[in-house]
Amino acid sequence: MISYTSLFIGGQWVAPSTAATISVTSASTEEVIGVVPEGAPADADAAVAAARRAFDDPTGWASLEPSRRAETLEKLAAAIGESSEDIVRLVSEQNGMPISTARTVEGGFPGALLRLYAGMVRDQQLEEERPGMFGGHVVVRRQPVGVVAAIVPWNFPQTLLFSKLAPALAAGCTVVIKPSPETVLDVFRLAELLEQAGLPHGVVNIVPGGRELGAYLVEHPGVDKVAFTGSTPAGRSIAEACGRLLRPVTLELGGKSAAIVLDDAELVSSAQDLFGATLLNNGQTCFVGTRILAPRSRYDEVVDVFTAMAASAVVGDALDEATMVGPMASSTHRDRVEGYIAQGKSEGARLTTGGGRPERDRGWFVQPTIFADVDNSATIAREEIFGPVLSIIPYGDIDDAVHIANDSGYGLGGTVWSQDLEHAGAVARRVQTGTVGINHYIPDPAAPFGGVKGSGLGREFGPEGLANYQQQQSIYFPPV
Ligand code: NAD
Repeated sequence: MISYTSLFIGGQWVAPSTAATISVTSASTEEVIGVVPEGAPADADAAVAAARRAFDDPTGWASLEPSRRAETLEKLAAAIGESSEDIVRLVSEQNGMPISTARTVEGGFPGALLRLYAGMVRDQQLEEERPGMFGGHVVVRRQPVGVVAAIVPWNFPQTLLFSKLAPALAAGCTVVIKPSPETVLDVFRLAELLEQAGLPHGVVNIVPGGRELGAYLVEHPGVDKVAFTGSTPAGRSIAEACGRLLRPVTLELGGKSAAIVLDDAELVSSAQDLFGATLLNNGQTCFVGTRILAPRSRYDEVVDVFTAMAASAVVGDALDEATMVGPMASSTHRDRVEGYIAQGKSEGARLTTGGGRPERDRGWFVQPTIFADVDNSATIAREEIFGPVLSIIPYGDIDDAVHIANDSGYGLGGTVWSQDLEHAGAVARRVQTGTVGINHYIPDPAAPFGGVKGSGLGREFGPEGLANYQQQQSIYFPPV
């Protein structure tokens, strides 16, 4: 049982303003595994004030040479590397992510992102001189945007946090993190490492809480920029608030991506990549291809491949090394996923495997489930289920496949499966989403990641991810 009684604000462990707490439960055993203080508005005020002070300090974080900030980020990456197993186990226990996935993703991305952005700011030219169009010259400067509110979900709590924290810190911003109540223990563990890496006081502050606290932070007068990952409805409401306040915001939201199987795809030898691109993290992944578009010429075979894949996936405790599909993150979330399965059945889709709960006496498990003969207008093809539930949709020719793929309120990911990489690339170019994978799907931190339509605004990762945390100032020098 892990217990914290203080909040990490201003570089100190401080008493929370209220006695409210968050209990964290293991998704696999339903046992309470930890308790932390819940942040209240007064704690958010203290966190924003600490971040503001740290940002405004004329000799502080924002004014350091980028190479000094880069050094600290690299120290933090090393500290995280040493405690990685601790952190990934906490993530797995809390949200049900299979430990093997947690090790690669949650254990790998934070350090990689810190090193990526450390390198990027080390090489970045902060001031550029341009000849003026009317004589004189202009100095164009890149400056950190200020205090960032980073609001993250529970499904990849570390990776999605570091997709904001690493570029924000590299740019010289200070940050208030609001983790999801389901996954707080890994972030408290991280706070200890921030101290160890020597991050100046107030540069990173943590206030755990629910949606109300998140909304409070979004509108806080001391916040200069909001970076959000979560559901589309929450993203819309945050966008509205930021629009009114004219506050810069990046939104990484939901998805309903298509996996387009072309008629020459080699599926059997791609089993591992297919699984990763469609069922990663028990389907609790924004970018997975949950609509499988299968050519009529090979339709039965594609249904058989996915049915066999789902039926043979090892379902079990997230901490078990053999587990391929763990439990849903919470009982409420399992109810939601089961609601969609019931809807799929009632709307006439053909269930080929799963559809119920595996025989286990505890944990919020759902069987990996495949629906065939799904129409793209069905609820299970339109809405994000966020569980191990895939819909197989038949198509005629390539134009039909592209039309179905693009006929969605979302536009985040997608995949194209073919032995002909050139042809697959040509199809990928017609898909209206922020990212597409060919014969696999793994977001690459070197390149921008994000969505169009209901999947969000802006991009994380790559140099584009750093630009979110920098603004330009032009200084006009007169002719001499
Ligand atoms: P959620 O929107 O319920 O919550 C996400 C975070 O925002 C939590 O910390 C929550 O407390 C907070 N929050 C909720 N409503 C808020 C509001 N109105 N104002 C401010 N903060 C608010 O999402 P979730 O259920 O935790 O996560 C799952 C969702 O996240 C899925 O829709 C998934 O697709 C999406 N997601 C997107 C990406 C991406 O990169 N595009 C990545 C992972 C997850």
